[in-house]
Amino acid sequence: MRIGSRLANAAVSDIRAMTRACDAVGGINLGQGVCDLPTPEPVARAAHAAIDAGKAVYAPPEGVPALREAIARRVGRDYGLSVDATSEVVVTLGATGGFAAAAMALLDPGDEVILFEPYYGYHYNTVVGLGMVPVLVPLRPPAWEVDFDALARAVTDRTRAIVLCTPGNPHGKVWTPAELDALGALAASRDLLVITDEIYEHIVYEGAAHVPLATRPGMRARTVTLSGCSKTFSVTGWRVGYAIAPPDAARRIAVAHDLLYVCAPTPLQHACAEGLAMPDDYFRGLSAMYQKKRDIVCGALADAGLTPYVPAGAYYVLADARRLGCATAREAAFTLLDRAKIAAVSGASFYRDPVGETLLRFCFAKDDDLLEEAARRLRALG
Ligand code: PLP
Repeated sequence: MRIGSRLANAAVSDIRAMTRACDAVGGINLGQGVCDLPTPEPVARAAHAAIDAGKAVYAPPEGVPALREAIARRVGRDYGLSVDATSEVVVTLGATGGFAAAAMALLDPGDEVILFEPYYGYHYNTVVGLGMVPVLVPLRPPAWEVDFDALARAVTDRTRAIVLCTPGNPHGKVWTPAELDALGALAASRDLLVITDEIYEHIVYEGAAHVPLATRPGMRARTVTLSGCSKTFSVTGWRVGYAIAPPDAARRIAVAHDLLYVCAPTPLQHACAEGLAMPDDYFRGLSAMYQKKRDIVCGALADAGLTPYVPAGAYYVLADARRLGCATAREAAFTLLDRAKIAAVSGASFYRDPVGETLLRFCFAKDDDLLEEAARRLRALG
């Protein structure tokens, strides 16, 4: 049988394989980016209520009005961003569905799309899957600095978009206003779209502030902002996210999203509307909760000689795995699983550059007791 070649080199990431191997040995899974923390009570209750009320039919292509309004109110309160719920907000099947729909709607096969490396695998593979050409610009550790000269050099006549991820997975970089403005100036001068994945917007450390690109001068008109409820309410399986974009772009994203997925689950859209209306303290509390978890894991990694690049946001840490003495990061991940019964993800999942083979990514969106046990095991490696 002759089948297409576009995804011939893509595979379901190693993350799933690690999860299976981890389960097989009863290990602690710090691999997959799944937060197994409880769903906030009001959000869970609202989901039950929506099901009981029979809110079971397809939602409008742009999402249920109550959720779109809640999203507009939330970004207004959090960032002073004034968004029209009717024409500028599209509810999507997670931020992942939002990214696929935005790329499908706003870009064409053959377009070059700039991503920063290390990248989030779904961004890279979606771009490839849609027949576009990913162009990588490295972020330089330890602070994951942007080389703006390299970024400018990466733009060609075929470049149509830049993909941003802040706070970022896997590195935890939180883009500063100055960096956003430098990126914005380049995007404006070369007439580029920016798709910015801000799914970790409420998880930033040391009092750092998350600044949405769309709030920077002149950027609203060329920015698609993606976020969602997966990480904010620990409901990764609910598949509720959203895109905020100028009306023309939002209309097209809704069309693409309808074609791909029809809609995000209707009762869960209603529940997320209730969640986004929770008091500001809930959202502010997320950073403090995750900062404690970050410090447990980073402290143990440092003690184990697996030097962490301590993240400024999100809930992952990249660590230098060379101490494990393995030729590849995959081998390092399996060695760690064997010796400490802890699963991590190969850095090669986030890099084309060989430096990925020296890194492991750990997710710390876990219960504190589990993280303390993981920390004990890591220190025992020492
Ligand atoms: N974007 C980034 C950068 C992520 O790290 C993840 C999950 O790991 C997602 C999106 C997934 O978001 P959603 O569950 O809303 O599709």
